[in-house]
Amino acid sequence: MTSEAPGDGFAPLRGRLAAAEVAALLRIEGREIPLLDLEAALRDEPDRTIRARMAAAQAEALQATNPLRAELLARIHDGAAALGYPGVAGLCRTLGPADLDALAKHAQEILDQTESMYEETLAWALRRHLSVRLKEARHDDLLRLFRAPWLDPLFPARLLLPAAEATLRALRLDLSAAGRIRLDLEDRPGRASRPFVAPSEVPDRIYLVARAAAGLEAYGAFWHELGHALHYAHTDGSLPVDGRRLGDEAVAELHASLLEGLIREPGWLKRFLEVGKPRDTLWVAHLRLLGLLRRSAATLLHELLLPGGRNGEARAEAYRYLLGQAMRVEVSPEMALAEADPFLASAHSLRGWMGAAVLADSLREYFDEDWYRNDRTGPFLRECWQQGLRPTLEALLQQLGLGPLTPRPLLQRITQHLQ
Ligand SMILES: [Zn+2]
Repeated sequence: MTSEAPGDGFAPLRGRLAAAEVAALLRIEGREIPLLDLEAALRDEPDRTIRARMAAAQAEALQATNPLRAELLARIHDGAAALGYPGVAGLCRTLGPADLDALAKHAQEILDQTESMYEETLAWALRRHLSVRLKEARHDDLLRLFRAPWLDPLFPARLLLPAAEATLRALRLDLSAAGRIRLDLEDRPGRASRPFVAPSEVPDRIYLVARAAAGLEAYGAFWHELGHALHYAHTDGSLPVDGRRLGDEAVAELHASLLEGLIREPGWLKRFLEVGKPRDTLWVAHLRLLGLLRRSAATLLHELLLPGGRNGEARAEAYRYLLGQAMRVEVSPEMALAEADPFLASAHSLRGWMGAAVLADSLREYFDEDWYRNDRTGPFLRECWQQGLRPTLEALLQQLGLGPLTPRPLLQRITQHLQ
């Protein structure tokens, strides 16, 4: 899910940018790869030299489309300024559901507390799986590492759907939510490489478009989107539209992240995928989670540091520095604008991850370590989903007797598996 501007007055410019992105076709090693598929292609490419060429072509294509991105960002920020706010971050700070100052502190805490653990684990994993030293590692090496192709046999495409059906059955839930979720798994040419949810009518008509692909990331992405679909499909239809579609997006991220987290549950891996000794899998899965978490934390700090839209070079330089520090690899400044989200999607992801870890801890407490196959968990989740996006994430946790929102449970879990 991506954030959308409420009452979007920037649609024509967005449309031009989307058209330019769709039209951008890169020619690499005799192949034609659409710009929008390039990240997926980088993950799948085993040859490091070819990956370097692909990354260079990506940077070039982004450079060509960046003026449109810069213009869009600038106009969005001007719009916020015209309303009397210092940029969109200022608007979100005043009107948004999150306490952004507290969240920025959490983001810094996440970066500080996990720095040495991330660096050591990453260095070891890069050497072991890609024969690359951390000092020489590039961003595309990280994409390849987190794709973890050596784990594909443990996450076969043929089990993606049956494992989901079996899990939901154990929870007394149903993949189609009594017909409200329409699953589209057909592999057509031109189809987006990542799964996505299109909530056409909440709760009655939710499309979940996916591919039965193998691998840790493919499973994680599928469960994430399935979490969104189930949440939408169980939202109380009598809620006003702001409770069904326009509330706190971090709540949607919480529900999606909770189910995505199944790929990091040792018992789930054993029971539903028959992974005999999940230790190595869990290690990689938590390293990947930590990488994504550090990236979101740095992205948020970057957005808050330089919220204006008319400072392209300073913005790109700050991005290169902050993201490079967080990820421990060289990051291309061309990505700065491509990754920018003035509506602070990174804040939704961070709160969603933290909230999901808090909720998962309480599910373990109430429904046991294997909460994901306890028939009391499903009805409990259904009650949470029913509230749609109406309560803020913090209010939802409070209602459940949990909270306040902190990164501690999430960091504990990661540390437990990486040490
Ligand atoms: Zn999501």
